[in-house]
Amino acid sequence: MEHCILKVALDAPLDFCFDYLWSLEADAPRPLSGQLVLVPFGRREVMGLIVAVHDDTDVPLDKLKSALAVRTQLAPLSAAWIALCAFAADYYQRPLGEVAIPGLPKNLRLLKTTSLDKAIKKLARIDAIHDATPFAMPQLNPAQQEAADAIASASGFAPTLLYGVTGSGKTEVYLQAAAQILAHSKEDDNPAQILILVPEINLTPQLEANVRARFPGVMVATLHSGLAEGERMTHWLAAHLGQARIILGTRLAILSSLPHLKLIIVDEEHDPSYKQQEGLRYSARDLAVWRAHQLSIPIVLGSATPSLETWHHAQSGRYRKLELRERAVKDAVLPKVGLIDLERKAPREQMIEGVSATLVAALKLRMERGEQSLLFLNRRGYAPVIACDSCGWISNCTRCSAFLVLHKLDKRLRCHHCGFEQRIPKSCPTCGNVDLQPLGRGTQRVEESLQQIFPQARIMRIDADSTRRKGSAQEAFDAVHRGEVDILIGTQMVAKGHDFQNLTLVGVLNPDTALFSHDYRASERLFAQLMQVAGRAGRAAQKEGGSASEVLIQTRYPQHPLYAAVRSHDYDTFATELLEERQQASFPPFIYQALLRAEAKEIKIALDFLHEAITCVDYPGITMNDPIPMTMTRVANVDRAQLLVECTSRPALQAFLKVWIAALREMKTRVRWSLEVDPVDI
Ligand code: ADP
Ligand code: ZN
Ligand code: ZN
Repeated sequence: MEHCILKVALDAPLDFCFDYLWSLEADAPRPLSGQLVLVPFGRREVMGLIVAVHDDTDVPLDKLKSALAVRTQLAPLSAAWIALCAFAADYYQRPLGEVAIPGLPKNLRLLKTTSLDKAIKKLARIDAIHDATPFAMPQLNPAQQEAADAIASASGFAPTLLYGVTGSGKTEVYLQAAAQILAHSKEDDNPAQILILVPEINLTPQLEANVRARFPGVMVATLHSGLAEGERMTHWLAAHLGQARIILGTRLAILSSLPHLKLIIVDEEHDPSYKQQEGLRYSARDLAVWRAHQLSIPIVLGSATPSLETWHHAQSGRYRKLELRERAVKDAVLPKVGLIDLERKAPREQMIEGVSATLVAALKLRMERGEQSLLFLNRRGYAPVIACDSCGWISNCTRCSAFLVLHKLDKRLRCHHCGFEQRIPKSCPTCGNVDLQPLGRGTQRVEESLQQIFPQARIMRIDADSTRRKGSAQEAFDAVHRGEVDILIGTQMVAKGHDFQNLTLVGVLNPDTALFSHDYRASERLFAQLMQVAGRAGRAAQKEGGSASEVLIQTRYPQHPLYAAVRSHDYDTFATELLEERQQASFPPFIYQALLRAEAKEIKIALDFLHEAITCVDYPGITMNDPIPMTMTRVANVDRAQLLVECTSRPALQAFLKVWIAALREMKTRVRWSLEVDPVDI
């Protein structure tokens, strides 16, 4: 009997593909690369991806195992998709199978014929489920129109930064550019697909509803980690079969199979959540740019505060920059930003439960006028720590270098890093003092304070604790949109994307800590966060007798240049200055970095491993920094250290990493290590 050899990528930590034997029955078709195949692996049977089919191999045939079954029901994954996975694997220094296989829906891997048939039938029903009332496209303003036309008419690889202030109508530009591309390809055999990436799940419902309403009759698939397995399978298939024309997803959607992809949009491209922080530590934004380049299609990176990497490319002309300088809604203007100086001596700002009198007055005014306010505080829980006044005890986590956070409503102390929790002690564990004090403020405490200050107010808190149940975040935001909330308190969850119509005041409670962070990216992030949360105010035109939109920031450092830039909404100057600083200090994007992390029971073991890692290969042109303990050294009883590696050339760094990783794998060590390319948290 005839046979062929299948080269199969498996989800295993080994840096090569496996050969399997496949016997060809009389008139059965030859397997194809891109098909899934069930193979024996150790004692298990696992699903792998055929990456090549050969007639022969160097391995003696009697040493080869036979593949068990090829999944012919599913159209093969394309060569372009395999190339994308291969690039990601190569760039982030992981085995191909570890990139390609986990990205597929679980049900596809377990797949039985019947379940596939069922999923394909269900597909046709996706859009019926989300029955949408059609909606007319609004007339774009000239700047929007110019941007939409430029995007839709671009040919080949055309990376574009859509730099537009909050509320400038970037979404409209994306959707109308998408509409043009879809309309053009209507008659094609393979109508276009458009991928829209968004940072967070809780942003998708509003956008999703919007997209469905705009494109009646067009199948829209959504891909994010909040989907149940069955749903994920259905939506993934809709994309893979080319039936879904618009694919809306979070970072993981960048690795989905999209055979007719013609445009990629990355909304809020600067957002840190595009970076996966465990396993394959990829940047979905960077992969999106690579994918657009590979397919020779346009890509749009949209933001009011672009990442410095993107800004740099736009300045140097590698990316085209399209600008929207004004808010899209007629007479809606950017809010006025004011600073509340907490350090000023005279007249000293009076504080009421951690909220300044100025801010309280501003909130009161909004309530009288029936307008909404938002208080932003990036810290959940009631208080970040409790302490004993008499002996100095504080609530440390015994397993981490972190405090236990007080969660008063559940009567618990919780570690936000390892998940450890315990009941609130009735008295000090060291001296028995019963008067333990919460220090500092989290969102729960602010909620409690405001309820005391404004007993009549309808207050809603939105953070990871209040929205644990599936769908609860959406319910909460719906209530805000319906006007059932006077004051919204929240973490960064409320800062992004939401289009609140009746919100005229944003208060920012405690942003100062980020000003003095050891992480050089902290100020860039703080700026983006402040612009973004400020951007929630004043999105509609000011009403007769209503308030002008306003942002009030409580700070101890009102002189800080970052706040001056926020006040003048001047990202251009701020970004240009930051880039200059980065260039002088040789930070990215002027240098390329990788981070080797090590974890061990004791910090010394982790550090020793990293010191050894430095000496295990030669590295001309590579800068090895000293191994250091991570800022938060201990998490869940594990000590963590890191070694930062730098190089002025990306290809040189890549070449070095290949050699280095091979050498590290040879090292006999019990230390757990991982390598991150282009690290963001250093
Ligand atoms: P961004 O994403 O830039 O922050 P959005 O796309 O959310 O801004 O748009 C802000 C608001 O402006 C939305 O309420 C949107 O419906 C409205 N809008 C956008 N474009 C127009 C337009 N051309 N005419 C009127 N309203 C518009
Ligand atoms: Zn004590
Ligand atoms: Zn802990």
